[in-house]
Amino acid sequence: MSDMLPSERLAKLRALEEWLAWQLRVTRHRIEQVAEQVRATGGYVTEQDRRAGKPVGVTIHAADCAKIHQPVTTVDAAKARYALVKDSSFNHPCQHCRPDKLLGITKD
Ligand SMILES: [Zn+2]
Repeated sequence: MSDMLPSERLAKLRALEEWLAWQLRVTRHRIEQVAEQVRATGGYVTEQDRRAGKPVGVTIHAADCAKIHQPVTTVDAAKARYALVKDSSFNHPCQHCRPDKLLGITKD
């Protein structure tokens, strides 16, 4: 782009901006579609917490939580409840979606 006139660079950047805005709209629409599928099936997911590559715990999320960052494993309510109650030193509820409240484990 360095051999272009500023007006040509501006036109290219505006075209790029328009394309990126379109990509963002398509991605957000897809996220909403998939989130709706997840809500329809319900459930919970587990996300490993790693430090220096080693598992240090597991975060339990509601399946449609926006704070899920890594690939996850889907579990049903019974398995999520079991994980949170029986091994609470390793498994912990996400502080954003609070599956412990959804499951009736904690009330606050
Ligand atoms: Zn969450």
